[in-house]
Amino acid sequence: MSEKDEYITMLHGAGGTVMHSLVKNYVLKYFGGSDIEVPLEALDDAAVIDDIVLKSDSHAVKPLFFPGGDIGRIAVAGTVNDIAVLGAEPYALACGFILEEGLPLRDFERILASMQRTCREAGVSVVTGDTKVVEKGNLGGCVINTSGIGRRTEALERNLEVVKKYRSGFEARWILDSNLRKGDRIIVSGTIGDHGLAVLSAQEGLSFGGKIRSDVKPLNRLVQRLLNEVGGLVAMKDPTRGGLADALNELSEKSGVGVLVYEDKIPVRRDVQAACEMLGLDPLEIGNEGKLVIGVVKEKAEEALELLRSTEEGRDAEIIGEVTLEFSGVAMQTLVGGRRIISRPVGDPVPRIC
Ligand code: MG
Repeated sequence: MSEKDEYITMLHGAGGTVMHSLVKNYVLKYFGGSDIEVPLEALDDAAVIDDIVLKSDSHAVKPLFFPGGDIGRIAVAGTVNDIAVLGAEPYALACGFILEEGLPLRDFERILASMQRTCREAGVSVVTGDTKVVEKGNLGGCVINTSGIGRRTEALERNLEVVKKYRSGFEARWILDSNLRKGDRIIVSGTIGDHGLAVLSAQEGLSFGGKIRSDVKPLNRLVQRLLNEVGGLVAMKDPTRGGLADALNELSEKSGVGVLVYEDKIPVRRDVQAACEMLGLDPLEIGNEGKLVIGVVKEKAEEALELLRSTEEGRDAEIIGEVTLEFSGVAMQTLVGGRRIISRPVGDPVPRIC
């Protein structure tokens, strides 16, 4: 079968290699090539044009409500976090609803109220939007697109000054995936896999002991604190679809460096680990909605860790590894002493998690 005869599958929306090749081979072919500071083909978490960070994100999580969150909270936090990880402060969102015929109005209102709460938490406002309705089918009740803009802050400038103190020739104006260099440390802000398993438990009616909840949360205030009070951050991602494995591979590939992580340092809740073992899943490949992967100059890594651990959302943070030029790609020093390659997942094993 030639490529022209192929169809979209669920894997095309699951992060990982299949989705990335869809974006590279199709979307970039038509929309790439704009002359802006951080263009589409950088495939970073957001674009930068005229000093404004711009991001658009559609949310099709199924079911609409799950332990620890709902589609409205993800719709706000997802876009806010993609803007925040470039070092910008998000301030306004646009929101497009596609509602499915038959969605209970009380569910719609519950989603709106959750979005309002999350907006307040993040300090952003929804300022424009649109509502459409489609016939009953397989939409899962509603799909939400949120786009947002963010701006530079004093904290970002201060952070970049700190980086320049430790790294000569550093010229980047934003926190970018391509900024990692040898010796940088990699921090993860907390336990991984919680969100994907919380959604999976709602999809499949599994309880996993009833304690696994989504981590979905806007992280922009935490990011600004790190930039302002510590500094030295060079690269950052929110490890959503495809999980930590996908995020680390993107950083490594775009920066042209190797990343070595230590298995015993990667924070995973015991119940998440047990559920993953039971289902044959790898927590490294499972999506998160309230976590940061941070690349920081080594001189500032301990301080960044300390600040993270003093916060509610960062209390389980760890320095999980470092940047090396000994190899390319991502490798993990395992508990038993060997090294294993962490490759980019084909796609997140849990469908429609965001
Ligand atoms: Mg992202």
